[in-house]
Amino acid sequence: MKRVFSGVKPTGHLTLGNYLGAMRRWATVDQHQADALFCIVDLHALTVDHDPARVRRLSRQAATLLLASGLDPELCTVFVQSHVDEHARLSYVLECVATDGEMRRMIQYKEKAVRERERGGSVRLSLLTYPVLMAADILAYGTDEVPVGDDQTQHVELARDLAVRFNQRYGHTFVVPRATPPQVAARVMNLQDPASKMGKSDDSGPGIVYLLDEPDVVRKKVMRAVTDSGREVVYDRAAQPGVANLLEILAACTGGNPSELSGVYESYGSLKSATAEAVVEVLRPVQERHRELCADPGYVEGVLRDGAERARAMARPTVDAAYRAIGL
Ligand code: ADP
Repeated sequence: MKRVFSGVKPTGHLTLGNYLGAMRRWATVDQHQADALFCIVDLHALTVDHDPARVRRLSRQAATLLLASGLDPELCTVFVQSHVDEHARLSYVLECVATDGEMRRMIQYKEKAVRERERGGSVRLSLLTYPVLMAADILAYGTDEVPVGDDQTQHVELARDLAVRFNQRYGHTFVVPRATPPQVAARVMNLQDPASKMGKSDDSGPGIVYLLDEPDVVRKKVMRAVTDSGREVVYDRAAQPGVANLLEILAACTGGNPSELSGVYESYGSLKSATAEAVVEVLRPVQERHRELCADPGYVEGVLRDGAERARAMARPTVDAAYRAIGL
C-alpha cells in the first residue's frame, strides 16, 4: 500500500484554502486508499515570531479540526510533529546534504523573509532551514505521495532532490516522494486580494474564510469579495482573478468544473450568493463535528498520543538507517 504524508502548520486558524487544497482530500480519498499520516507540524510554527501559548492552543485546535473534517484514527495516523523526535533527528542529517544556495532560492523563504524585515523583525535561521525539516517530515516515513496545495510543491521538490542526492552519496535509504496537488482549488486566493494566497498566517480577516466562521460571517466575506471590472462571468485566471477564484471555490465545493460553472451565472452577485451558500454547506458538517469533539478533549489527546506512538515506530527504522548510512 502506498504511503501518504501531509501536514498543517499551527500558525493561525485553519482556512477554506487549507480545507479545499488539502484536508478534504485527506479525509475523502487518502485515508481510504493509502497508509496515511497527517501531522500538525508545530516545529514549523516556530520559524516566525510566535506566542508559545498560542502555538499550543492552535495545535490542539488543528488536531480537532482534522478529526472534524473526517480523519478517522482507525484508518490513518494523526499526530503532532514535536511528539516524535525523529523529525528533528533526521532534519540535521539532511542539512548535511542540502546547500545554503538551495535554501535561499525557496520562494516562501524569500516572501516571508521580506515580510519579517518589513515588520522590523529579524529573520530566524529556522525560516531558512524550514524546507529541510519539511523534507525530514516526508522522508522519515518512506512517503510516496504528498497531497498538498500548489504553494508547497517547491518544498516537496526539494525533498525529492535531497532524497535522490542522499541515496546517490550514501546508498539507497529514502523513497523519493512526489507532490499531488488537487485539480481544482490548488491555490485558493484571498477574497480581498486575489493576487495573494488565502493564507492562515496573514491574519487579515475579511479576505480569509476560516473553517470555524459562522454562516453569516462566511456569507458576508464572500459577498464582499473583490471582483473584476468586467460584467460577464468568465473563467480567466489572468484577466479576472477575483471571479476565477470564486468559480474555483464554488467548483471545489460542489464538485463542478469552473469553466462550465461560468456559463451558469449571469451576474457577479448571483455567483457570489451561490458560492457563499456552497461554502456554508461544505463547512456545516465540519463545524458540527468540531463542536462535538470540543466537548471531549480527552478523546483528541488520546488520538494524538496513539498517533505519536505509531508514527515513532514507523519513522525510527528509516532515520536509524540514514544515521548509519551517513557514518554515525
Ligand atoms: P498556510 O499557508 O495556511 O499556513 P500550511 O502550510 O499549514 O498553510 O498548509 C497546509 C496545507 O494547506 C498545505 O497542503 C497547503 O498547500 C494547503 N494550503 C494552504 N493554503 C492554501 C490555499 N490558499 N489554497 C490551497 N491550498 C492551501
